[in-house]
Amino acid sequence: MNNCVFCGIAAGKIPSQKVFEDDSVIAFKDLSPQAPVHVLIVPKKHIQSVAQFQAEDKELAAHIFVDVAPKLAAQLGISDGGFRLIVNTGDDGGQTVPHLHVHLLGGRKMTWPPG
Ligand code: 5GP
Ligand code: ZN
Repeated sequence: MNNCVFCGIAAGKIPSQKVFEDDSVIAFKDLSPQAPVHVLIVPKKHIQSVAQFQAEDKELAAHIFVDVAPKLAAQLGISDGGFRLIVNTGDDGGQTVPHLHVHLLGGRKMTWPPG
């Protein structure tokens, strides 16, 4: 989608510190890390948020959570200690970039609730 920063990163037009890429997903370091490890897992397809998921996106959603997130956590060394996945959705959910992304955070003890 035009003017979408994460579409730009997925297309390689905007630089990022990439940690993983396959046919449907890219993962890169967050610009403003909130933990020692903080990456964003982003579908290459422009989907605004979880609220815009379609039935056809089931495989992609499963791929992100079943295949990519746990493997990436292990690869980044935060699997044993534990990690946090966050999907902010819409204004009240704290979403600032309107292209679906899963935050993967770890490397320190997380607090709850997030506020
Ligand atoms: P949200 O609040 O939408 O869930 O999170 C958006 C995240 O994207 C924020 O943590 C922010 O630091 C990150 N971010 C925004 N723009 C860029 C960018 O151009 N590059 C990278 N690597 N991260 C970005
Ligand atoms: Zn996009």
